[in-house]
Amino acid sequence: MTTATAHPNGTTKEAAPDARSVVAGLRATFDSGRTRDVEWRLRQLEALDRLLSENEEAIAAALKQDLGRDAYSSWLIEILSVNMDNSYVRKHLRAWAKPQKSAPPLSFRGLSSMSYQPTPKGVVLVISPWNYPVFLSIAPLVSALAAGNTVVIKPSELTPASARLLAELVPKYVDPTAVAVVEGGPEETQTLIDQGLDHIFFTGSERVGKLVARSAAEHLTPVTLELGGKCPVIVARDANVAVAARRVAATKLVNVGQTCVAPDYLLVERPVLEEFTAKLVAEIKKQRVDAGQPVRVIHRKHAEHIARLVATSGGEHVLPGSVDTETLKVEPAVVLNPDLDSPLMREEIFGPILPIIPVDSIAEAIAFVRSRPRPLAAYVFTASSAVERQVIAETLSGAVVVNQAVFHCAIPSLPFGGVGASGYGSSRGKFGFDEFSQKRALMSMRTTPDLPLLYPPFTKAKRWLARAMIR
Ligand code: NAD
Repeated sequence: MTTATAHPNGTTKEAAPDARSVVAGLRATFDSGRTRDVEWRLRQLEALDRLLSENEEAIAAALKQDLGRDAYSSWLIEILSVNMDNSYVRKHLRAWAKPQKSAPPLSFRGLSSMSYQPTPKGVVLVISPWNYPVFLSIAPLVSALAAGNTVVIKPSELTPASARLLAELVPKYVDPTAVAVVEGGPEETQTLIDQGLDHIFFTGSERVGKLVARSAAEHLTPVTLELGGKCPVIVARDANVAVAARRVAATKLVNVGQTCVAPDYLLVERPVLEEFTAKLVAEIKKQRVDAGQPVRVIHRKHAEHIARLVATSGGEHVLPGSVDTETLKVEPAVVLNPDLDSPLMREEIFGPILPIIPVDSIAEAIAFVRSRPRPLAAYVFTASSAVERQVIAETLSGAVVVNQAVFHCAIPSLPFGGVGASGYGSSRGKFGFDEFSQKRALMSMRTTPDLPLLYPPFTKAKRWLARAMIR
């Protein structure tokens, strides 16, 4: 049976009963006002912290089943980073949730008080991808609950064990009338969007991000898009080459390169090209053996995508790597001087393949970055603050990180988000709280004096006074 559902923004839609009743229940909870209480929000956040800490083993097992990942990496990325963000948010939440004072203009002083109140938006949808199924479901949930919303999470259908575990655990820990997990794929997601929600936080590909934003526009639902793309790494001639090679290799190998902020390609100044390439290859070999990292990618289509990128790249395969589309095992490859228009240099790699492009100068590297879609992060390895300043000033990206990669996304006091093709909106800490809040202006006027100046007829004298007084 399908029924029509009305939303405060005026939209009406037919929907499958499940998504409809989930959203209706969450809306009833929101309308009860319970989620506005900051103490209630803090209790939910504490419960989420416990959910991750008390179920570390079950989470690691589900991630192993879905992604073949080792338990330590899963703890580091999916549990520790979320709990760091969660405790930062809990520490500051009371201050963030208060009405924020605003100084009235001079001519309103003494006549009014002004502030703005961060206000929850209502029922929000979190759509998460498969590459970090727990982190990218629970981190937005922390922000959304901190802001006082009710939340429906739609994890990826490609990581079913993690999705199942979240669906089991979340209602056991947090208020089950305020948070729901809906399992499923595109169809279920679309049905949820069609309920006319108050915010959608989408993490995933550029292609699906556009579809979600288009569907959300039908309901005037605001959207945050956390997308992917190609994150460049510039290696300057004055860089600490050994450290650069070690850090690029380590951050690329995490989760078999299936990370939105992983180094995607390298622009290396010629004077250090040979030394850097040799060190990078040596580091990859060493870390692949030492780290016990997973080698399996998510599914056959993705293994085929990586195989195609390597096969059509051109250039010199200084570390040949390998892709087995049956076992899904992918060994890292380094490609020197690929064809700049090959799929390897045009599509998001999302695997352990590193193309290296030699450049004559930092200006040439910057020009290359600027000629491509704006990335989620840009990395530069240099010892010079002038080079650092130049890269920051002359490129646009979601973030810039100097002499490291990826780590910025686990820092709760920094905003995380894209720009242009890598998305819009922010997450983490205060930025995530703001993303899920409406800034509601509050202005309260005294009833006396009730200045005649403000009422018609606007005589010459009043007009003169208004010009003189209102500042
Ligand atoms: P995806 O876009 O295929 O799927 C993401 C989510 O959208 C899933 O929950 C999926 O069920 C849903 N979905 C898929 N098709 C849909 C449709 N037609 N309509 C509605 N919903 C649909 O992304 P993915 O393959 O799961 O994840 C990989 C991508 O995510 C990469 O591009 C990566 O860079 C990006 N990513 C970005 C970030 C970030 O924080 N910016 C983090 C992780 C991953």
